[in-house]
Formats: sequence, C-alpha cells, structure tokens
Amino acid sequence: MNATARIAIVGAGPGGLLCARVLQEHNIEVTVYEADASVDARDAGGTLDLKADSGQIALEDAGLLEDFMARARPEGQAKSRLDQHGTVLLAFVPEEDDIAASEIDRGQLRILLAEQVRPGTVKWGHKLQAVTPLGNGTHRLEFGNGTVAEADLVIGADGAWSRVRPLLSQAVPQYSGVSFVEVRFENVDERHPRVAALVGDGHMFAGDNNGRGIILQRNGNGHVRGYVAMRAELDWYDKAGVDLDDEAGVRRFLLGEFKDWADEMLRFIKDNDGAFVNRPLWTLPAPLTWERTAGATLLGDAAHLMAPWGGFGVNFAMLDGAELARALAEEPTIDSAVARYEEGMLPRSGEHAVGANDALERFFATRDFDPSQIRDHAAEHRESVAAAAEYRRRNPAKAPGETPASAWTLKFQTPRGEQLAELVLDMTASALTGSLNDAPIEGGQISGSEISFSARLTTPFKMKIRCAASIDGDTMTGKAKSTLMTIAFTGTREAA
Ligand SMILES: Cc1cc2nc3c(=O)[nH]c(=O)nc-3n(C[C@H](O)[C@H](O)[C@H](O)COP(=O)(O)OP(=O)(O)OC[C@H]3O[C@@H](n4cnc5c(N)ncnc54)[C@H](O)[C@@H]3O)c2cc1C
Repeated sequence: MNATARIAIVGAGPGGLLCARVLQEHNIEVTVYEADASVDARDAGGTLDLKADSGQIALEDAGLLEDFMARARPEGQAKSRLDQHGTVLLAFVPEEDDIAASEIDRGQLRILLAEQVRPGTVKWGHKLQAVTPLGNGTHRLEFGNGTVAEADLVIGADGAWSRVRPLLSQAVPQYSGVSFVEVRFENVDERHPRVAALVGDGHMFAGDNNGRGIILQRNGNGHVRGYVAMRAELDWYDKAGVDLDDEAGVRRFLLGEFKDWADEMLRFIKDNDGAFVNRPLWTLPAPLTWERTAGATLLGDAAHLMAPWGGFGVNFAMLDGAELARALAEEPTIDSAVARYEEGMLPRSGEHAVGANDALERFFATRDFDPSQIRDHAAEHRESVAAAAEYRRRNPAKAPGETPASAWTLKFQTPRGEQLAELVLDMTASALTGSLNDAPIEGGQISGSEISFSARLTTPFKMKIRCAASIDGDTMTGKAKSTLMTIAFTGTREAA
C-alpha cells in the first residue's frame, strides 16, 4: 500500500487502538479520532476475557501479549452456573497453566493499548458528526469540535452506534428484548463476603429458565460488577412507572420481578453499592454483509454488534484490527487490503454473531432446564488453544516486512554421504507450496504437523522424490522416497 495514504480510524476502543498499534508496528501512519475527552474520561466497563484464538493473537501481532499477561487475571476464568434457588449446577476452576481466556479489566486494557500507540496518534475529544465521500475513495470527516479532516481510508471502529457504518450498510442495531441492570459491589471480600463467595475468583451465571438471570463478574481491586438481567420491553421502567434515578424504586421493581428467587440470590439487588444502571442489549442483524465501498470499512461492534454471550465482541474487534492492519501492510493497494480483510472478517463475525444472539435467546427463554446447554469450559479452552495453533500455522506471527515463507536446511543421508538442500515452505494456505533448491515443489500437503510434497533432485543424481516429514518447532524429520531407494533426512528452520 502507498505509505503516504491517509488512514483515519474513528473510535479509540479496543478494536481501533489495536489496529493503530499494528499499523504503526509496520511504520504506517494513522490518526485515531475519539469522542471521549481522554483515555479515562468515563468508566470503561467490566472485565473481559481475551481468548487464545482471537484477542491474544491480536495482542501478539501488536507485540503486546507479554504486557497483557503481566496484567491479566487467569484465575478470573473461574465460572459457576446456578439456578434461582442458589443451587450450583456447574463449577469450573481453571488449571494453573490455563491462560486460554485470561481476564483483564476493560479500563486497564484501554490504557495498555492507548499507551502503546505513538504520542499524538489519538485525537481525543473528536466526535465524528459527518463523513462525506469526495470521490476516488477519499472522505471528508467533520467533528463536533469544528475540526475537519480528509482520509484515503476511513475505518469505522466507533462501536454500536457507528457514524461510519451508513457509508457501507443501512443496518441499524435492534433491541434484543433483554435488558441488563448493572449493579456494583466495592471491597467485596470485606464488605460483601457472601457476594465474594458466590462470585469466587471469576464469574457467576444464574438463570431461572423463565426470562431472568443474574450475572456477576469479579474485576481487579476487590470490585464486583453484575447484571440483573431480564427479558423486558425497551421502556420497561416507563411502563412500570419507575424513575431510573430513584434507587429505591428500581430496587423495589427488581425485587418484584425476581420474587421467585431465593433470598440468598436477592442480595445482589438489595446490597449493591451505588446506583443501578440500565443497559438494554442491542444487536445488529446477523450475519451482516455489505458491498465493497472504496475507501471505507468497519471493524468490531461497528461491523458486527452481537449479544455479549460467549464473550466474542472485544476479541473479534481486536482480531479485526490486527488483520486489517496486516492486510494494509502486505497488500499493494488499499482496495486489495480491504477486500482481503472483509473476506475473512465478514463470514467469521457473521457466524459467531448468529450463535451469540441465539445463545442469548435460549438463556432468557421460558423452557425446561436442559443440562446440555451448560458449556464445558475446559473443553472450550482446549479448543481455543488448538484453534490458535491452527491460526498461527496459516498466519505465522512475523516481524514487519517479513514474508510468510520459512526457509529450511535439509540434510539427506544418501549412500554417498550427507547432502544439503535448501527448502522454502509457505504453510499459510491449505495446500503446501514452496521450492527445493529453487525448483518448485509439487503436490504439497499439510495435516497438523505432518507435511508431504514431491520434488526433483539434481544431485547426487537426477531423481524425483516424494518427501514426508514431521515438523516439531524449528526441526523436521522425514523420509524421501524415489523408485530406487528411501533416504532419511532432517531439517532445521533458519532463524527469521
Ligand atoms: C454488558 C456488556 C458486557 C460485555 N461483555 C463482554 C465480554 O465479557 N467479552 C467481550 O468480548 N465482549 C463483551 N462485550 C462486548 C464488548 O464490549 C464490545 O464488543 C467491544 O467493546 C467492541 O470494541 P470496539 O472497539 O469495536 O468498540 P467500542 O469498545 O464500543 O469502542 C468504540 C469507541 O468509539 C468511540 N466513538 C463512538 N462514536 C464515536 C464518534 N461518533 N466519533 C468518535 N468516536 C466515537 C467510543 O467512545 C469508543 O471509545 C460486552 C458488551 C456489553 C454491552
């Protein structure tokens, strides 16, 4: 891509900041425009799990995985599932070495990312008001503070109510039919020991299979944030004559709604510190797609706002950001980069958004209890680690400017002694390609750590060989078969 292209990211949430950081790692200029006045101008929200196969991959591409791990709370992956009587239906405690979905407070994540883009990258206090196409893919951006800017690529990372989205799609968020009422508990271990015991180190999910749930999450610093959740009309408070600012009135209403719940569970409504905050859940139609629009694209919630079930939202926002930045660094034009990015992002987010929205629907449905709907978190974590390895096989972590191919030195044990050969492999596609001593290999196949391919050797004599090898990190061992003989070989990957 032309290195002088003007790239504007609208929104300094996790997706926008991550994208900016990876672009800068590739020495690509970028400006981020953010409505908030500063990084900590508002409460950033609760805790987030960053998954091995998405959020953590994005952080690795940004060179920030270690910084994340230093702040993360792996013990926060613990989860329990209860019914409305307080009966524990499932308790998951992660193994000591399980970091597949480590937790971090949202505010800490935002600060971590904002500190790692170059100073001056984020223009705080710039709320986008209008974006106008000027032709040839360029756009004019107008901000609430009177500033105007132009961009060759505008990236809408501006969340649920994106001002950039209308350039690409007429879709608007729809109310999901479920509202969360946020509750908080401070200094829980001392002031709210029963709440602390129920939430444990991580999360508690309780549901009555009749449209109501209570979800609690332990954050850092003895803070617990929770959601008293219910299937309700968008204006439930108006219909019930409740003033949302009247704490006692909201509490009375919720206690009436949750009257069939055990007393032990009602402490989350009776004992909370501070105000209740109404948070209706909105989702975009899923799967959402759009026609390519020159000079504009979306990432994160702006592209695929989904129910917060399964915790994909922030993970995909960050992975979107990393993939878009990588495509811009590697493709010759903005158009080809955005096409490559959207070809991967749209089907992935569409599939998961449908799944997350269905899961929300099921959790708040009136139905008989179905134990099969309780997720096996240990299995999910194993799958996430395996998916991360597969993702890395196809998209190796690489330094800026590095090509996806890897170079190997092979040693063949021939009857005439050891023979060396140079093997270059590209393992990023489903078919293995590359060259042996500069001649292209043929029929390349890859399955997990096993590879096979055909090649022509010219020394010690001309012959066609079929090689099969097993890769273990930076080494491989295998056999090369010709019509005359079978030759063992070993290989070493050269340092990048
Ligand atoms: C109750 C709840 C719980 C959730 N829990 C989880 C969870 O556990 N795990 C998970 O993965 N996800 C969770 N999510 C979803 C997650 O919060 C989002 O998917 C994630 O924050 C999306 O990141 P983003 O960068 O795309 O957008 P955002 O985080 O929304 O960031 C958008 C940024 O754009 C800025 N902005 C907006 N409009 C403008 C404008 N006009 N001009 C300039 N700037 C603008 C905003 O101020 C903001 O900083 C939850 C969501 C909710 C509602």
